[in-house]
Amino acid sequence: MPSVPKWLGDTMDVVFRNMYHPVIVTNVHYLNNQLKKVRFEGDFSKTKFTPGNVVEFRVTPNDFRHYTPSYFNTTEGVCEIVFYLHAGGPGSHWAKQLQPGDTVKLLGPGGKLSYLPAFSNHFVFGDETAIGLMNCVKEEADRSGHSFFALAETQVAHRDWIHLFSLQPAVSVESSSGDPAIPAIRFLNDVAEEWEPSVKDTCFYLTGRAKSILAMRKYLLSRGVGMKQIKTEPYWAEGKKGL
Ligand SMILES: Cc1cc2nc3c(=O)[nH]c(=O)nc-3n(C[C@H](O)[C@H](O)[C@H](O)COP(=O)(O)OP(=O)(O)OC[C@H]3O[C@@H](n4cnc5c(N)ncnc54)[C@H](O)[C@@H]3O)c2cc1C
Repeated sequence: MPSVPKWLGDTMDVVFRNMYHPVIVTNVHYLNNQLKKVRFEGDFSKTKFTPGNVVEFRVTPNDFRHYTPSYFNTTEGVCEIVFYLHAGGPGSHWAKQLQPGDTVKLLGPGGKLSYLPAFSNHFVFGDETAIGLMNCVKEEADRSGHSFFALAETQVAHRDWIHLFSLQPAVSVESSSGDPAIPAIRFLNDVAEEWEPSVKDTCFYLTGRAKSILAMRKYLLSRGVGMKQIKTEPYWAEGKKGL
């Protein structure tokens, strides 16, 4: 629920108080001028986290926004998020002003996307907003002895962002506003011989721009990928505030 009247936000603070975790910002690191990694610390001992899960913050009295931890450790009480400071809405403004020592309330973790350990290959598709997710899935795949691949669609100027983390193997293609996911689909088509033999053991996590997810899902289904192997979570959509 991205925007609500203030009274409803206040009511939710009370009703969901057991799901809110007071956290303190302990570190802020600008990976570049539009990517900000923030470390939150608090008591997460009663939470459960699976890579792919999201958390939520009340970014103004009226607005809530979701974010995907790039790292979450219930024992250490640490949650790290990579914020893409781009959209210019309340979420971006809130993330931009976060400083060490700030205290905020974190809701979650939860959500419908989560790492599926039954698969031995994990493929993440997304854009600048999904870099944190890619990192989290990659670390889980490494821990589990699974294989990982990230395919990012980004603005041309951001194509090396995936290398800010140890995201390997990973490929970045140019995003296309008029043809969502088309450069990414073209890439997959060109290397189909490499990934199709292991497709039955692969889970495809599709995130980022809603229109790109739809196009990528349609393409994967057309190549014989099963519906149960495709997990989707849109992070933003044109003209929509929050999701
Ligand atoms: C489940 C989930 C997980 C998410 N995880 C992350 C995360 O880990 N890191 C992260 O940075 N964001 C993430 N997001 C996106 C985040 O919640 C906000 O949407 C984002 O910060 C923009 O919020 P805003 O209030 O600044 O802009 P909004 O008020 O939501 O949007 C303002 C305008 O900008 C457009 N817009 C929004 N995002 C983009 C974009 N990326 N590119 C182009 N136009 C855009 C909107 O369509 C709208 O027209 C996630 C979203 C969801 C739903």
